[in-house]
Amino acid sequence: MSVDGLSEIADRVYRVEFASGQSAHSGIVIGDDAVAVVDTCTFEDDARILLEAVASLTALPIRYVVNTHHHGDHTFGNWLFRPAAIVGHERCRAWLVGDAGETHRELMGKWMPASKERMQSVVIDAPDVTFEERMRLHLGGVTLRLDYFGRAHTDNDIAIGVEEAGLCFAGDMIGEPLFCEDAFPAEWGSTLRALEGVPEATFASGHDPLVDRAYVGRQAALAEELAASCAAGTPLEQIVADASPEMQAVFGHQLGIAVERYAATAG
Ligand SMILES: [Zn+2]
Repeated sequence: MSVDGLSEIADRVYRVEFASGQSAHSGIVIGDDAVAVVDTCTFEDDARILLEAVASLTALPIRYVVNTHHHGDHTFGNWLFRPAAIVGHERCRAWLVGDAGETHRELMGKWMPASKERMQSVVIDAPDVTFEERMRLHLGGVTLRLDYFGRAHTDNDIAIGVEEAGLCFAGDMIGEPLFCEDAFPAEWGSTLRALEGVPEATFASGHDPLVDRAYVGRQAALAEELAASCAAGTPLEQIVADASPEMQAVFGHQLGIAVERYAATAG
């Protein structure tokens, strides 16, 4: 296991963290028959490190790529994993297919201006296997349960529970800070309450260390608290002034964006 950033995080489950810091962490799940990869990096060279990581662990084929949501730091490497099926929520496909994918490339360039040039060579490859509520992928002795619990960080976040390993990939639904540009703050809390109820006890987010169920519960409570403040019509300045250290850490400089997104998307 000599690939930089590769570590075992549960039985037959691995994670790769990238030195660039601008590709989300990726997951690797190895069954008796096949491999699934969770999220595929922003950049081609990071995605090639991920391919190398899989090859260092097993000779089995990568049968599935699963996207936790549509953001480019989780999906722009998809094309390098064919002929694997690319699996995601129906709206993950909608955000990436055809002209929508080019619009998303532009947006990612605005969010990550220093890396805009590096994203130009990406061949955006949307999920071709999609679902709306739940599906399972069977790798032989290992089962991935894919659940859509509602809108949160985006309108297409899914949780990927590795049932035999007790670990759930949660993408950017959890983390510190929570990125809110595409978020649905009025619903984020209830979505996290559903995530909190999965059978798995360990959670892997897109950009942070592994966490436990209690962490998911704390983030749900903060999201609910923020939504309640917005629903009560509390002005942004007051929300910022009243924010606890934990609220500031979790929403960070995105608190204002979260309040705007609440106003734009609630109800
Ligand atoms: Zn994201």
